[in-house]
Amino acid sequence: MTFRDIGLTEKVLAAVETAGYIEPTPIQAQAIPQALAGRDILGIAQTGTGKTAAFVLPMLCRLETGRARARMPRTLILEPTRELAAQVEESFVKYGANHKLNVALLIGGVSFGDQETKIMRGADVLIATPGRLLDFHERGKLLLTGIDILVIDEADRMLDMGFIPDIERICKLVPFTRQTLFFSATMPPEITRLTEQFLQNPVRIEV
Ligand code: AMP
Repeated sequence: MTFRDIGLTEKVLAAVETAGYIEPTPIQAQAIPQALAGRDILGIAQTGTGKTAAFVLPMLCRLETGRARARMPRTLILEPTRELAAQVEESFVKYGANHKLNVALLIGGVSFGDQETKIMRGADVLIATPGRLLDFHERGKLLLTGIDILVIDEADRMLDMGFIPDIERICKLVPFTRQTLFFSATMPPEITRLTEQFLQNPVRIEV
């Protein structure tokens, strides 16, 4: 299985080549074609398996058409910590070098002003921690009604950190018709319940 076999666009293939990757990891080989086909995904995978590229690469393909509107991000990635959010942003910089996308980071400990400017400009990708995202939304500075793809990453860590009520609220604020890509290293009962509530006929991939 090569990256070319799994349906990525030429631009994304070029980025993968620049990164020096020879072949997709198992989670990438299984998740990318399904994500490109629009399916919801339940990925049970640890960090280190290549799961970040498993959602970033198909998102880049999907974002090649269309553009973002002010205050209405097109895609949303939820991360439990600022550090993980910043790492995902780096992945977009690395793989999306040829894409000219607006990527905004919404995390605690950073001034509201700069983050608001980026969201006002129109974000193709919004990477956020749940608390700061809801804070922005409550202040009326962010509309979640344009979200086409929602990624929930490290769901079991979200649970450990007490973020499940926030995640439930966010899932109800984004359109029902969105695609959801959901990743967790383990599947405790609370996480299984969340996937049953918010994923639609997901492809389950365990690596
Ligand atoms: P992650 O599991 O997303 O934290 O990725 C772990 C590491 O694997 C990162 O440093 C990636 O740059 C690297 N990586 C991701 N996909 C591949 C691949 N297909 N081939 C080689 N390295 C990869």
